[in-house]
Amino acid sequence: MKHTDIKTVLLDAGKVGEDVAVCGWVRTFRDSAQVAFLELSDGTSFSRLQVVIDKSSLTLDPECTKLGASVAVKGKVVKAYKGEGNELNAQEILLLGKCPAEYPIQKKRTTLDFLRGIPHLRLRTNTFQAVFRVRSAAAQAIHRYFHEHGFYYINAPLITASDCEGAGEMFRVTTQPWNAKYASEEEYFKNDFFGVKAGLSVSGQLEGEVAACALGRIYTFGPSFRAENSNTTRHLAEFWHVEPEVAFAELPEVIELAEDLLKYLIKSILDECGEEIAFFDKFVENGLREKLEHVANSEFAVCSYTEAISILEKKNSEFKFPVHWGSDLQSEHEKYLTEVVFKRPVFVTDYPKEIKSFYMKQNADGKTVAATDLLVPGIGEIIGGSEREADLEKLQTAMRERGMGEAAYAQYLDLRKFGSVPHGGFGLGFERFVMYVTGIENIRDVTLFPRSVKNIM
Ligand code: ATP
Ligand code: MN
Repeated sequence: MKHTDIKTVLLDAGKVGEDVAVCGWVRTFRDSAQVAFLELSDGTSFSRLQVVIDKSSLTLDPECTKLGASVAVKGKVVKAYKGEGNELNAQEILLLGKCPAEYPIQKKRTTLDFLRGIPHLRLRTNTFQAVFRVRSAAAQAIHRYFHEHGFYYINAPLITASDCEGAGEMFRVTTQPWNAKYASEEEYFKNDFFGVKAGLSVSGQLEGEVAACALGRIYTFGPSFRAENSNTTRHLAEFWHVEPEVAFAELPEVIELAEDLLKYLIKSILDECGEEIAFFDKFVENGLREKLEHVANSEFAVCSYTEAISILEKKNSEFKFPVHWGSDLQSEHEKYLTEVVFKRPVFVTDYPKEIKSFYMKQNADGKTVAATDLLVPGIGEIIGGSEREADLEKLQTAMRERGMGEAAYAQYLDLRKFGSVPHGGFGLGFERFVMYVTGIENIRDVTLFPRSVKNIM
């Protein structure tokens, strides 16, 4: 159906006086003696279009006035009677689809909790439309940033035979019948589709390193899968992962890239999604815009793991999990550092090698690795990255210490054998970023159909 976007009708002063057709869903209906008003939304803009109906010249099908009904309206664009922008004087209203009263998106029941039970309809609400417009703008900005900075966009495979160790449990990929019986695990996998145990990738990093060690600067942006058994508000079984990898870069450049990327993304969102941010500021996180403006214009903090532990140890009596040098940081510690101590995003660097992955560059102290996590208020870890170990022997030692077989990593080791270079990168959880810029507190509310333990609606 040929029609004009509501956004254009609303905002384009040049449209005033023109006859147009618009399509959309009814969001409100108000009636009075002579005139009636329909507010329509078609997803193109946050604001709705007001359709003015002169009841003396147009009889209105009551079905066209029901919340959630879809209609097409032909009319003349006029300057809004009140406020800015334009509205539409209706000449003809056509019902596209009825919406009976059991439509679950009624004003009084719309808590995020309730809406999680109807993922296919929750996008009709203001909140979810705003989330997904911001999410789209963020994705576009990510590609733009990397394109403008000379990064190649790489697509890493999603099915893999190697577990990027330390990142969590892998989902298995199989075509075996559910009751297949074999004498041993080896027999079982030999018979499977790939002839070996295969799974869904937890990260594109290993392949990203392959690409960076030839193309220089690359990034991947795609789904990662983790059979996370923890039911937190920050973990999904399927999430989108932004993973740049840079040849000839050491840890400080990795940190610089992460900070620059985040600031660029935040500025893009502030520029492009003003209405959405204003909405979240009002209804979801008071002070959001100010927070984002501040973050975009101030320096992130940097703090070594060792310093972080000495700060945290002073508060051990208040933590559920007291820390000492060597402990992994829990969410409560991460939040304390970024929210209470630094009050801004903070890069924690140089973690004990025992709590980090085998591939991270070993520091000269023999105890720590050149890794960094970026912690942000409200969420905790949003980025995990490191310089990678470029020395073949050190990498082999780290793998032996973890009982990892070399055979599965022969290609990865070859990168260190043939023209090895210092390199590094990081992984940014895309949904966690969307949470951060919208103030939405549950990761299930920033993804279309969230997948988590016992939940695949
Ligand atoms: P966490 O400690 O929060 O589980 P992680 O250390 O497992 O994170 P990494 O393996 O470093 O995370 O992954 C890089 C980034 O990917 C994380 O900083 C986070 O933003 C994101 N991420 C990791 N796991 C998940 C998940 N299950 N759901 C959503 N995002 C995730
Ligand atoms: Mn994890």
